[in-house]
Amino acid sequence: MWESWTSLILPKHCCVCGGWLPDETEWMIACGPCALDWPELHGEFGAMIMKERCRMPYAGTGFRLHTQAELIAQLAEIKYGGNRRLAEKWGKWLGLRTPPPMTNSCKIVLAPVPLHWRKRWKRGYNQAEWIANGMARVWRCEVAPALLTRRRHHDSMTGMNRMDRARVVRDLYDVNPTALEIEADIVLVDDVMTTGATLSACGGAIKQSGLNWLGGVTLALT
Ligand SMILES: [Zn+2]
Repeated sequence: MWESWTSLILPKHCCVCGGWLPDETEWMIACGPCALDWPELHGEFGAMIMKERCRMPYAGTGFRLHTQAELIAQLAEIKYGGNRRLAEKWGKWLGLRTPPPMTNSCKIVLAPVPLHWRKRWKRGYNQAEWIANGMARVWRCEVAPALLTRRRHHDSMTGMNRMDRARVVRDLYDVNPTALEIEADIVLVDDVMTTGATLSACGGAIKQSGLNWLGGVTLALT
């Protein structure tokens, strides 16, 4: 398994069929025909589902996470493998495919969904921050990694239902508006959206602090 993951770091071959990838400027992991087998890889359908789970004016996602082993492996490599370069490349890919929200007020700033400091210290990184960094290069905007902090550490929410998750994450996030150097509208960034409870909690905290929360972008959607 690890061997196949590392071969995905700098893909020269399609991760599905193994064929050569054309040498294009845009980073890709699958050849055209194989990418077409991922019909929900990008599009407005994902944004619609996100808005159903979390009330927000703006949403964007890269792909649905069903059974595509290749995409699941990519996410695992980012989240648990600590592959910064891969995360930033996916962030760029996401930025290219997700048009930034229309805002007439001021600038957009990306705020990665934070880990609790203890988890971040143990893991050594926050994958959402890497994805946000990649996106910011395409959107030409700032990233504010210190805007949000996570208050308590909870056990993994894997296996919890929507109501349980919403209860657990409420009041879990603090906002530090001084982390913003400029006046800006906030777009949250995370690796995966499951029930939307996390984005809702972060967005609620941002609004409570008096800042304008536009919505969120996640690399994948379960
Ligand atoms: Zn292929």
